[in-house]
Amino acid sequence: MKAATHLGFNFFFGLSLGFSPLGAAVMTAGGMLPDICDRFIALGSKTLWRSAHRTFSHWPWPYLGAALFLHGPLQIFLFGALLHCVLDALTPTGIPWVHPLGGKWKRGLGLIKTGSFLELGVIAGAFLLWQFTSSAA
Ligand SMILES: [Zn+2]
Repeated sequence: MKAATHLGFNFFFGLSLGFSPLGAAVMTAGGMLPDICDRFIALGSKTLWRSAHRTFSHWPWPYLGAALFLHGPLQIFLFGALLHCVLDALTPTGIPWVHPLGGKWKRGLGLIKTGSFLELGVIAGAFLLWQFTSSAA
């Protein structure tokens, strides 16, 4: 998924969960963590980025564990990172489910191709969920 999709989805999904705009912003910032880690590891090298992208930075289990056992803003931040992994799992490339280094363990559902028009649907879905949940309250 593109960065804009992660930003839009996490913000509106955070609002739909009942977070304040600041809480939703924290979740949105956390949603950028996996891709920021990849860029940091690659140190500007496209070759390194291609081999590091969607490996251990996109391994969902540490984020899930942290989101379950931590509290406060750090919990919200890492839950945002977990949502990033979930969205990337919808793409054909997918994420490493079993082994953090990816390789043959990387799987995706193939529902939404990165950069496709359907990414707007992901953002719109979160927006509509927020509208629905805020009007129901
Ligand atoms: Zn990613």
